[in-house]
Amino acid sequence: MKVKTFEFNPLGVNTYLLSDETKECVVIDAAFFYADEQELLLNYILDHDFVVRHLINTHLHFDHLFGVNPLVNRFGLPLRYHPDDQFLLEDIPAQMRMFGFPSPHPDYRPVKGEELQEGDLVRFGNQILHVLHLPGHSPGSVAFYEAEANILFSGDALFHSGIGRTDLPRGSYETLIGSIRNKLYSLPDETIVYPGHGPSTTIGQEKRNNPFVNMNPSEGND
Ligand SMILES: [Zn+2]
Ligand SMILES: [Zn+2]
Repeated sequence: MKVKTFEFNPLGVNTYLLSDETKECVVIDAAFFYADEQELLLNYILDHDFVVRHLINTHLHFDHLFGVNPLVNRFGLPLRYHPDDQFLLEDIPAQMRMFGFPSPHPDYRPVKGEELQEGDLVRFGNQILHVLHLPGHSPGSVAFYEAEANILFSGDALFHSGIGRTDLPRGSYETLIGSIRNKLYSLPDETIVYPGHGPSTTIGQEKRNNPFVNMNPSEGND
């Protein structure tokens, strides 16, 4: 499986395009905002003669949604996401104002959607992505895990030396730490982690160095 990373939009979201030798591909978090960013992704798909099989999102924060509808419309595929994030689609303009985005702007709510749940398999080419539900950063956050290549797409749950913020609507620090400890830290140490923002890392490296997850909640906080 080949992983192509694009860093898009003013908030620096990683959009991942996964492909294999069959030329089938999936797009995770289509987040392009500017026309030249859109062109970059589309040209990559067209130049490689890729067939897009799935559009999937790690969660529905607005900055991960900017490029979804152009791809839904162009490829005739639904956006697949966990339904616990559905409520986030109700107030995208308010969220954007909070982050200083000028309005007006297009309606970023996916025009066509389909549910993803814990344990679902997303198949393309010879690849299988396992859906892991990882609430905490948002209630419907998920990660995608490819067991053969041992690669994880962690969304905004786990970053290189960091974790996602938990002060956004229906976020929870305790829930996020639980998700990471129970579901991500049980993966092999060599697992390569591609997060929603910033550089890649490994599960082993985060187990050793991540200051947020390693902190013992029974200590400190006084
Ligand atoms: Zn987020
Ligand atoms: Zn994000």
